[in-house]
Amino acid sequence: MAEDRDSELEDLLSKAKREPVLLAEETVVCPACGKPTLKVREYLYEVPYFGKIVLGEGRCSNCGYRYSDVRVAEVSEPKKIIVRVNGEKELRYLLIKSATAALLIKEKGYEMVPGPASTGFITTVEGILHRFLDVLEALCAGRDDPTCRDNKAWLERAIEGLESFTLIICDFEGTSKVVGDNVEEKPIDEECERLYEKSLEYLRR
Ligand SMILES: [Zn+2]
Repeated sequence: MAEDRDSELEDLLSKAKREPVLLAEETVVCPACGKPTLKVREYLYEVPYFGKIVLGEGRCSNCGYRYSDVRVAEVSEPKKIIVRVNGEKELRYLLIKSATAALLIKEKGYEMVPGPASTGFITTVEGILHRFLDVLEALCAGRDDPTCRDNKAWLERAIEGLESFTLIICDFEGTSKVVGDNVEEKPIDEECERLYEKSLEYLRR
């Protein structure tokens, strides 16, 4: 399954301090095909920067859907993680965004709100920008719209380290983490509660 993993995760796992421990193994309903044929295994790893992390992996024997999930093993209080990005240094910060966490790029109002099939992942701040760009390109495909062009240009400049912005992770279960200096953690506030309400709306659908 290694080819489905983010390269940052692959790199961390190669530096794991000891063999992974199998925590759980179960067969659950597949979010892609709806059949109870998705076999998921969860492993505890100890890796640099993050310490103990739980990695979930699985494959649906019916449709081939592949599941992967990451979260930190030691759960903290729910928190708002604020990353002030001024350039290339912060773009390289490693982070775990757990399945239930929401993302916000404050200055642009870009939001990534978890839905029922959301999973956790390890990436960098730059990786988050690429994810937003992928979503934007999908939304704007075949449209010649000035808003699309402006947002795409902004994201491309941000990826080059030419924009300053604030990345917020609303970590509702205390299982996300960002490794870096320009990182601040605060209690969940109204800004995060608004995103939490949105994620509940997705779950009710
Ligand atoms: Zn399936």
